[in-house]
Amino acid sequence: MNPKGIDVYQTKQELRKRAEALHRSRKNRHPAAQHSDTELLIHELEVHQIELELQNEELRVIQAQLESSLEQFRDLFDLAPVGYLTLGREGIILGANLTVCSLLNVPRNELTGSSVFTLAVADSRDALFRHLRRTFQDDGRNSCEIEVVRRDGNRFYAQLESVRESRDDDSEFQCLTVLRDVTERHQQERLIHRQANFDALTNLPNRSLFLDRLSYSIRTAQREGTRLALFYVDLDKFKWVNDTYGHNAGDRVLVETATRLLGCARENDTVGRLSGDEFCMLLPLVGSPQNAGLVANKVMAAMESPFHLEESVPLRIACSVGIAMYPKDADSPEALLKAADVALYQAKRNGRGQFAFFTSVLNEQILRQQTLGLQLQHAVTRSELMLQYQPVISLQSGRPVGAEVLLRWQHPELGLLMPCEFVPIAESNGAIVEIGEWIIREVHRRASVWYQQGLDLPTLWVNLSARQCSSESRAIRLTNVLKSLGDWFPKPRLGLEITESDVLDVSDPVMHMFNLLHDDGVAMSIDDFGTGFSSLKRLRQIPFDIIKIDQSFIVDIETSQKSVDLVRAIIALGHSMGAKVVAEGIETYEQRRILEDLECDLGQGFCIALPMNHENLAAYIASN
Ligand code: C2E
Ligand code: MG
Ligand code: MG
Repeated sequence: MNPKGIDVYQTKQELRKRAEALHRSRKNRHPAAQHSDTELLIHELEVHQIELELQNEELRVIQAQLESSLEQFRDLFDLAPVGYLTLGREGIILGANLTVCSLLNVPRNELTGSSVFTLAVADSRDALFRHLRRTFQDDGRNSCEIEVVRRDGNRFYAQLESVRESRDDDSEFQCLTVLRDVTERHQQERLIHRQANFDALTNLPNRSLFLDRLSYSIRTAQREGTRLALFYVDLDKFKWVNDTYGHNAGDRVLVETATRLLGCARENDTVGRLSGDEFCMLLPLVGSPQNAGLVANKVMAAMESPFHLEESVPLRIACSVGIAMYPKDADSPEALLKAADVALYQAKRNGRGQFAFFTSVLNEQILRQQTLGLQLQHAVTRSELMLQYQPVISLQSGRPVGAEVLLRWQHPELGLLMPCEFVPIAESNGAIVEIGEWIIREVHRRASVWYQQGLDLPTLWVNLSARQCSSESRAIRLTNVLKSLGDWFPKPRLGLEITESDVLDVSDPVMHMFNLLHDDGVAMSIDDFGTGFSSLKRLRQIPFDIIKIDQSFIVDIETSQKSVDLVRAIIALGHSMGAKVVAEGIETYEQRRILEDLECDLGQGFCIALPMNHENLAAYIASN
């Protein structure tokens, strides 16, 4: 049976039977009765007619089959999982399957005859135009991605793949376009792109995107002969905010800072977050250093108003800015960034909350520091480091109660270097960890000898940099060094000095370690007290036996009543917390007398004894 219900086999059989019957009847006739020409002709015609009917029948069957395939094809076309559009040269929609109609939320009869450009959002029309031009004129096959707007106003991303329909006569081309909804992939790609290029907290470009934009701006400035400015912005005391108010508060400061910096930027500028509390600003059209200075002032002003982290605590967080100019200071992105960083270092040295421009003199200083930094890495193994000891005495009895250990570097070319010339470098390049361990072992070795010699020295104070225990692993390493020394000797006892400003940087686990060490008999002292804007909360957590008043308070104690009052207050604070108080940097007898009157417990300074080598210290102890 064919689709039209005709039994082809049966029909053919019947027709054949009729033809054969005709043939037989012709043969069987009596010769006399045989045939006139007319009869023969009629007979032939009958046979032809039957044959034609046979052919007709076959054609009907083929047509029915074709119609059925066409119907199937239409179903497939309409229900395909992708949208199909047939487009004319001007972008007129000549045909559309049901999938595309439902994707666009437009009935087929309205879609056909309309322009495909009405489907694209304004920003995508150029891309669509180029796509059609390439399909029709150049390649004959092309694909693109555009944003499409549905009848209900919703948008989605569509991928178009078009093929020009080749016809023998090239009179009127059309193209067949496959349209797929690729919104999900698009969103994922955008997410990946965002994650790779933007900082998740502030939404600002991250280091990699910022460097890209910097390279691009440098190339443009080079081509056009213009200048650009790069700012390196660093929040002052951000770590303190994190430690004191917690990371959520720290995050809020960063987000707010990003907003404030964006508020100082123009449309063509880029603000990026490079890491932690380090932000950068790229000003490609700034013109002159004077203009850059104006923007830097704007940044300072924007940061001046307090941050409201908790309702009752308005917090002031200043920032420092280092500025480098292209092409004057450097001509590559990395070098320009480095120059801005150098300038930032200078800004911080000038006093926080300032901005500074890069200068080549500054660069030389930095280069020198970098060289020293490299040499420092080998200073321990080359035995170039040495220790001096400065006695600390009881101001009442005049007897030595300990000595502070002070580091020196006998540099092969530069001679004797003082700690201020190399300790900050060792801190920034991490060499301080190894150096600090060497100091503790060396002090232990010296103390063991003195102990065996019966030298009467209660405590040896070693300066500890916060960088030596800036992470838990470093703190554990330090504790292990102390433990590896075996039973800590009873005399002289080991004391650790940590500056008041460093106390703020100590993390909770390290604070815990200090408490354990203190329980094990290690004395603790807070150095340079009065200069670090101590958080009283932090002071309560750190165990300490000694407070050392910074020498800046002692230096004018003879002339400044304010210094006298401050020293008195610090002594009272120390005593009330059960600590002894040391005044350091005592240079005159008058200073010493005033401190005695103020009931300061201990003293240290050039007027008492200069830093000296271990032999001289032994002699000093023996004779005092
Ligand atoms: P600090 O711990 O406050 O050490 C006291 C500094 O004051 C020493 O300087 C000492 O020589 C100096 N000084 C002592 N008496 C007087 C005085 O009467 N007048 C004046 N003007 N200065 C006096 P030095 O040895 O140059 O050390 C400077 C800083 O370097 C130290 O300050 C300390 O923060 C750091 N430092 C020294 N040795 C080490 C060390 O082994 N490790 C670490 N991490 N830092 C160290
Ligand atoms: Mg000290
Ligand atoms: Mg000090």
